[in-house]
Amino acid sequence: MTRKQGANIPVSGGSPQELLRTIPNVDRCLHAILNLDEIAGVPVLLVKNCVRDVLAELRTKILQGDPVAVEDLTLELLLPVFLERIHTEQRPRLRALINGTGVIIHTNLGRSLLPDCAMERIGMAGARYTNLEFDLASGLRGSRYSLVEKLLCELTGAEAALVVNNNAAAVLLVLETLAKGREVVVSRGQLVEIGGSFRVPEVMARSGAMLVEVGATNRTHPRDYENAVTEQTALLLKVHCSNFRIIGFTREVTLEELVRIGRQKEIPVMEDLGSGCFIDLSRFGLEKEPTVQEAVASGADVITFSGDKLLGGPQAGIILGRREIVERVKKNPLNRALRIDKFTLAGLEAVLRLYQDEQTAVAKIPTLAMIAAPVEALQRRAKRLAVRLKSLPAEVCGVRVVQTVARVGGGAMPEQNLPSRGVMLLPRRMSVNRLEILLRALDVPIIGRIEDDSMLLDMRTVADDEIASLADSLRQVFDAAAH
Ligand SMILES: *Cc1c(COP(=O)(O)O)cnc(C)c1O
Repeated sequence: MTRKQGANIPVSGGSPQELLRTIPNVDRCLHAILNLDEIAGVPVLLVKNCVRDVLAELRTKILQGDPVAVEDLTLELLLPVFLERIHTEQRPRLRALINGTGVIIHTNLGRSLLPDCAMERIGMAGARYTNLEFDLASGLRGSRYSLVEKLLCELTGAEAALVVNNNAAAVLLVLETLAKGREVVVSRGQLVEIGGSFRVPEVMARSGAMLVEVGATNRTHPRDYENAVTEQTALLLKVHCSNFRIIGFTREVTLEELVRIGRQKEIPVMEDLGSGCFIDLSRFGLEKEPTVQEAVASGADVITFSGDKLLGGPQAGIILGRREIVERVKKNPLNRALRIDKFTLAGLEAVLRLYQDEQTAVAKIPTLAMIAAPVEALQRRAKRLAVRLKSLPAEVCGVRVVQTVARVGGGAMPEQNLPSRGVMLLPRRMSVNRLEILLRALDVPIIGRIEDDSMLLDMRTVADDEIASLADSLRQVFDAAAH
């Protein structure tokens, strides 16, 4: 179907009654439109709804006194408006876009991309019957949880593992299992809100556990935890601060110190790691963050983290811990409501297998590959895009390859920057805000960063095979705007 970029409902002058009478009726519009070749195969109901919506919006406009011209209400001029609306309504609501933000784990843009092998397994799980809850060895009913437990334990050194819907569910489930009606000690500096409405105090309240805050916002000492322990204490909890950091005069109790206190007082220790990474990323220029393996080794009784942050897998909440604790969590009826689905399991298993060889993991897991990508490769990518935009006249849009700063994102590694390269677009005939709107309206929207009066597309989050179509779309936007 062809469509005119930005074909909107036309507006200007006329008496409201006159204008309302001029609007062609639904049947006339439908008759005209259903005869068009472009409409072949489009469900009639969808066409009808679009026509009705466009006409209703026109009437509202007229009644509100917005300027509408009589001559714009002809069927001929309305047809492109209908077609545009039909095209928009036919596009899937959830669809692919180009992430030019440079934020690798972008929660609003779907967090981690999955490696091909994971997509293949997910396709298999959807198209075929599987042994999801069928034990092939015994022929008896099996447990979906056993499918990735061994892998997780082997990779992390944990005694037992359980995977649920997401990390928020993992935290809720563990707190509900271990601490309902009892007390959980947390440092004031860790009572954080993670983007997307995960707040430690609120999750705690939902679990029925009682929060005992210790320390000050910036400093918490081991004695603060020790003094807070009572008969009612069920758990000592450490929460990763994720997208937030306290700097300056600070003191955090380390996981090791917390474990020592927990052992002494015979109280389990939990860490919500948030992102949960299996690989030390400091060799890619990032600050050292404790890995999941290190958290397990330091003796925490239970650890939780997300599947789709630094791990680079599908959305999931991973619980690792002592067998006795994980078994109790598994038996919690709430687990049934938070359980992981077969697609996630299939994808997660594939991603975990990649971690059996660290180099393979870094090469094949997009989240890690994007973190590891050398600046030289990003420079080349930026140049390729710039070359493809050469045909844009300088008086329409300036194009420059520039140094940028990308981010890991996803509440992982706060304030940690990755040097990057980008393409800067300097639109001359429209505002950068207008450009941003046009880029968002594309069939494959392009999401960048507005910096000063330019649109920046960071190459760290753009794939090589997206460059050609990205350039085509950009040219199309500027061409359409020129007419
Ligand atoms: C991201 C995060 C969560 C929530 O995880 P989801 O997988 O998004 O549910 C919880 N705790 C911390 C510390 C986090 O960083």
